[in-house]
Amino acid sequence: MSGRLVIAVDGPAASGKGTMAKRLAAHFGLPHLDTGLLYRAVGWKAAESGRAPADVAADLTASDLENPALRTDEAGQAASRVAAVPQVRANLLNFQKKFSSQASGAVLDGRDIGTVICPDAPVKLFVTASVEARAERRYQELRARGADTIKPRVLAEMAERDRRDSERAAAPLLAAPDAYHLDTSDMDADAAFAAALAFIERKGFRSSGP
Ligand code: C5P
Repeated sequence: MSGRLVIAVDGPAASGKGTMAKRLAAHFGLPHLDTGLLYRAVGWKAAESGRAPADVAADLTASDLENPALRTDEAGQAASRVAAVPQVRANLLNFQKKFSSQASGAVLDGRDIGTVICPDAPVKLFVTASVEARAERRYQELRARGADTIKPRVLAEMAERDRRDSERAAAPLLAAPDAYHLDTSDMDADAAFAAALAFIERKGFRSSGP
């Protein structure tokens, strides 16, 4: 390996960035943080408790991240609303920065990892796909989980969340200038992983595992 490997993975919902981040972490033996889960937990807990989202963000605990309801689309929408509050983002910043500065290196995925959390990461990936491809993936996922929904609704909610995440003033979804762009619209998870890995290896990083 050439130096400490920190991989920043950003992109919109259902772009494949989460799967990509998990696989890269396993491949390189690095700890992984799904930062979307932090915002989901804040949105969920604030709605449930009636507390201000910024206060919830200030004392979030590891057990708050274990709620299975955080994986729902409803939690994603709630996350995207609280994520626009600057004080929520500020209160989650130190935890994420600390995670990324572990001696082992790390993989983080989210919306502002390459731009705000780890601007010095040696590897930045910006994973995208068309809104139609992402809505189709999310629809299939929801159906597989037994959710009762229709495709136009999934597409409309996806477009709404994209708009909110891209247009907000506080750390909007944005590719870092030095990010490697990967459009996964016509790629499966294996092809996307192979493309990302090839890019990382070109930068001189290799897995030290078997
Ligand atoms: O990635 P995921 O769908 O779990 O993220 C949920 C929401 O949390 C996003 O729509 C976005 O508004 C917010 N988020 C963010 N910054 C991050 C990660 C997620 O604003 N680093």
